[in-house]
Amino acid sequence: MTGQHILISEVGPRDGLQSIKSIMPLAAKKAWIEAEAAAGVTEIEVGSFVPAKLLPQLANTAEVVRHARTIPGLTVAVLVPNLKGAEAAVAAGAHKITIPLSASETHSLKNVRRTHAEMLDEVRGIVALLRGLPVAERPKFEGGLSTAFGCTIEGVVPADKVVALAAALMHAGCDEVGLSDTTGYANPAQVKDLVRRVRAAVGEHALSGLHLHNTRGLGLANVLAGLEVGISTFDSSLAGLGGCPFAPGASGNIVTEDLVFMLEAMGLQTGIKLEKLLAVRRILRDALRGEELYGFTPDAGLPLGFIQESA
Ligand code: ZN
Repeated sequence: MTGQHILISEVGPRDGLQSIKSIMPLAAKKAWIEAEAAAGVTEIEVGSFVPAKLLPQLANTAEVVRHARTIPGLTVAVLVPNLKGAEAAVAAGAHKITIPLSASETHSLKNVRRTHAEMLDEVRGIVALLRGLPVAERPKFEGGLSTAFGCTIEGVVPADKVVALAAALMHAGCDEVGLSDTTGYANPAQVKDLVRRVRAAVGEHALSGLHLHNTRGLGLANVLAGLEVGISTFDSSLAGLGGCPFAPGASGNIVTEDLVFMLEAMGLQTGIKLEKLLAVRRILRDALRGEELYGFTPDAGLPLGFIQESA
């Protein structure tokens, strides 16, 4: 495992901001994204194409995407709930599009007011849209299975259901699938089991990423479990900002700073310079007054003698 490159996908500007009341000014969003990219973060989910009346925090996503695209080497990712969102994402020039599909149908109806069958129709519509584009301009398209490890409304989500939906997403034309612990229900044994089962159905390369939460303190333990079964991409949020507004009680994405610290201390390579990353918190502190910022590493500081091999 040592020396292996791990991709950290920062989701704070989308997942974090959508879950708090404060609205971050556009200039601060741009500065945040620029500063994280300068610290070595190579993929950032910069926003979501949802109606502004639902999430005023993300109303300027198109402009944020256009700006983020000017940063060399940065993969600009966005979330879209439907075909209309995907059209906006393509128009703005996103490099990567993720559509969330909740493994719990009740959660799906509450979140996007659509059944599984209706969501898969949206997925097929988006695939048709993307395949109509020249290959060089085609964004990567991921189906993100949310509530994959349990749901605050339905409770247990059977692994077989998640596997079947992952297969359905790939069959519909997604480039890959991801698993999200939207509710913070996952445990390390479950992470390993579900990753293995989904990969057995869709192939190893079709599942490379996990979106884990730290709701019950198991976020990093779940990352380690994912690493042990070969997962190489993890979502996290700077300062642990946000959670899922549609899953009552679920809060706290994995803190990017703590995740980078763990991986780098283990000898894995993230390409992210921790000192620089820690300094990015200042932008959040200034632009989001009164919002709580999380993270153990930022509070405790780096250990004496800690040297980053890859920095
Ligand atoms: Zn999240």
